[in-house]
Amino acid sequence: MNIILLGPPGAGKGTQARILVEERNMMQLSTGDMLREAKDSGSEMGQIVAGVMARGELVTDEIVIGLIREKLCSDTQGGVIFDGFPRTLGQADALGKLLEENGKQIDAVVEMQVDDAALIARITARSTCGACGEVYNDQTKPWPSNGKCINCGSTDIKRRADDNEDSLKQRLMEYYKKTSPLLGYYYARGDLKSVNGLGEIDQVKSEITAALK
Ligand code: AMP
Repeated sequence: MNIILLGPPGAGKGTQARILVEERNMMQLSTGDMLREAKDSGSEMGQIVAGVMARGELVTDEIVIGLIREKLCSDTQGGVIFDGFPRTLGQADALGKLLEENGKQIDAVVEMQVDDAALIARITARSTCGACGEVYNDQTKPWPSNGKCINCGSTDIKRRADDNEDSLKQRLMEYYKKTSPLLGYYYARGDLKSVNGLGEIDQVKSEITAALK
């Protein structure tokens, strides 16, 4: 099964993708993670995208489609969860073609609905483990007081440079202008399922499980 998790920044796509990876042995493809890796590596492409990401704007379709194309060449037998991709109609078209070339297709697109106020609260409180990617929230799931990640024991707590109110406002604008048209695109194909992304992690997980049946 190949699925797309669609929703604004902070909707919980990464958290739910990680659960699907563990439970269904699927592969998570997060263009945000790939771009952050490129940025941290200091590669030429990483240097190009760093400023764009810090401002909360979208990186060009050409760059992100290139990243996805590379990954789709690897073994994706267990199915793929596209997290944060596609984000434009151009990316959606390109993904459809890439999958078709590989004899594959999108089986479901899960929209995670969360209102703006909750997104801002979530994102400004968010941190992640630099080693394993476990997601924390200052209010609802704080970093353990012993300083060690509950999942892997690392002490490398990270806050994303673009998780601040200014970047977030821009990221939300980009979402509404360029990504939300994908809801109509996938609805028209009969692929769209919408879930309430506001609940507890387990509750959202159950809704996604039901939507994927
Ligand atoms: P994310 O981790 O998905 O929130 O992405 C972080 C940032 O990476 C975004 O604000 C964009 O600057 C960039 N980015 C991630 N995925 C894409 C994409 N599919 N298209 C364009 N830019 C992207």
